[in-house]
Amino acid sequence: MAPPMTTKTGEAFNREQIESLFKRRFFFGPAFEIHEPVKGLFDYGPPLTAIQANFVNLWRKFFVNQEKMLEVDPTILSPYKVLKTSGHVDKFADWCTKDPKSGEIFRADHLVEQVLENRLRGDEEARGETAAPVEADADGKRKKKLKTKQVAIKLDDAVRDEYKSILAQIDNYGGPELGQLMVDHKIKNPDTGGDLEPPVEFNLMFQTQIGPVAGSIAYLRPETAQGQFLNFNKLLEYNNQQMPFASASIGKSFRNEISPRSGLLRVREFLMAEIEHFVDPEGGKKHAKFSKVAHIELELLNRQVQLDGRTDIDRKSIGDAVKEGIVDNETLGYFLARVQMFMETIGIDQKKIRFRQHMANEMAHYATDCWDCELLTSYGWIECVGCADRSAYDLTVHSKATNTELCVKEKLPKPLEIEEWVVDVDKKKFGPKFKKDAKAIETALDSLSQELREKLSLDLSSAGKIKVDVPSIAAGSAEVEKDLVKIEKRKRMQHTREYVPNVIEPSFGIGRILYALLEHSYWTREGDEARGVISLPTLIAPTKVLVCPLFNMDVFRPIVNDISDRLDIIDISHLVDSSGASIGKRYSRNDELGTPFGITVDYQSVQDNTVTLRERDTTKQVRASVDEIIDAIKLLTDGKESWESILRRLPLIESKEESQEASQEV
Ligand code: AMP
Repeated sequence: MAPPMTTKTGEAFNREQIESLFKRRFFFGPAFEIHEPVKGLFDYGPPLTAIQANFVNLWRKFFVNQEKMLEVDPTILSPYKVLKTSGHVDKFADWCTKDPKSGEIFRADHLVEQVLENRLRGDEEARGETAAPVEADADGKRKKKLKTKQVAIKLDDAVRDEYKSILAQIDNYGGPELGQLMVDHKIKNPDTGGDLEPPVEFNLMFQTQIGPVAGSIAYLRPETAQGQFLNFNKLLEYNNQQMPFASASIGKSFRNEISPRSGLLRVREFLMAEIEHFVDPEGGKKHAKFSKVAHIELELLNRQVQLDGRTDIDRKSIGDAVKEGIVDNETLGYFLARVQMFMETIGIDQKKIRFRQHMANEMAHYATDCWDCELLTSYGWIECVGCADRSAYDLTVHSKATNTELCVKEKLPKPLEIEEWVVDVDKKKFGPKFKKDAKAIETALDSLSQELREKLSLDLSSAGKIKVDVPSIAAGSAEVEKDLVKIEKRKRMQHTREYVPNVIEPSFGIGRILYALLEHSYWTREGDEARGVISLPTLIAPTKVLVCPLFNMDVFRPIVNDISDRLDIIDISHLVDSSGASIGKRYSRNDELGTPFGITVDYQSVQDNTVTLRERDTTKQVRASVDEIIDAIKLLTDGKESWESILRRLPLIESKEESQEASQEV
């Protein structure tokens, strides 16, 4: 079970407070609220929209620019054939279970987890151990508060251990296993106690149609990845045939979640940023820049530990993790380290981040290995970035379905002599003999493996004919006489090497990361009434500077306008607050928006053109000329100078909100 959330000042995290702040200051809210809100759909208000825009800018700099990725913007509407080929039509589903009496539908894994967790809490209560606060699983599902009827029911030690072991592997169970767990552990509708039906699969894609033609089925994309794979040849060409390379895309994806919940954590429409890094599968999927990150330490929760029913973390450098085979290869390891570095840059608390490996059944249909970057929130550990090795799966299936080569052809430094079994068909005789089946039989012969070719060459010389399977013709197979086909071993020179690249995919869910970041940055400042502060790093804060005249008076206006114009010229987002509220109030309502700096223009400013600069977290203030303060802000927002350094070089003033408020009262 996840540890309880605390704020950066060590206080217990109070979700109600931050939720009320989100609502009051319109960080985000339910979409269509004045009609009837739809679960899992949200509108972002000004602060979160600005935070998201800053996030996207940083992400582009950190990944697209620094890694020289090829960013693309593929369409959202995807025809049936594309997602049938990718496997999403058949396999992109969750298991749900229905209460036939009430009609309620539950996500089966979440339900089992919720019920067993509640029973464990009841057991803790009965044993006099302190019940842990309400939390959630890695999917962000909030558990219900302990039900009264479950309080103080002691479990046998063996049952308790069994529940813990089930919970550690909950993501590894498929529908039939979840159904069995529901039977074995008598799991019913938690609200009514009613019986539930065995779990069935529910596809998570939103279906629509393109144009007026019925039957032209399409879907809103569930990930941006497919648009990147389908453009592989164009991207390789654009990259002058050089491998490895990565494409990237930032855009909306849609998933028809069975039961959206936990605010922004499980929604039906969300912004994703995905990278598809194409790499040669031979040579251990090395990464040229791995040595630069090898020393970075990560908290790893590997597959075997979870299968053993435990959640112990192994902290080690990514270099060692790859060396020891815990993380499969350098490219995957490189991205895990880069994800961690990015999270640090945007202000994620480094004590609230870990990487969890998927268990075999939990992995998406296309993945061969997967590590989730999870962030701790008041809902528990939440998967925020999925880092999957998709092997050659996607390029191979699209290539087959479209008869298009999606591969790399590399000139070999030295030609290779190859000896292989070759099938020659006598086309003149083949057509008249097999008529409409001729093409299918020829294709079947062409696709025979080397082993089969060798075996059939023996059959041909001993029996004078061979039998080949051809599933696409009515007879299912065909006999070919030796005058129609020749199978021989021949030598040839190979000048190029052909391979289908493997894909390493870090996939970021932006809403989840932003939500976790807001929780990590939130704390309350002591005072007459506790005031919320969101300590976002300057890079990500929605507005960098608040400019306040002491009063809304003409005398201050020229200096305020001058500062505002100059901040515009150097591209620093700022707001001017000339409202009648006290300076302290104006600062504190910007502290809760995350604004890192405040400039106040007061009577002294009018006399000597100096202003005060206040920093959000320390509330300390310095006083200097407008020129010096603007220079300082530029250095601070560019990350080139720290606040501590500014405090050392510019005169500190006695502060604070109180003294300015006093002068306001004069
Ligand atoms: P996946 O393709 O399932 O690995 O998802 C990639 C990322 O998208 C996850 O790591 C999440 O950050 C995000 N994500 C997936 N489903 C949702 C959802 N329903 N709501 C919000 N974010 C999601």
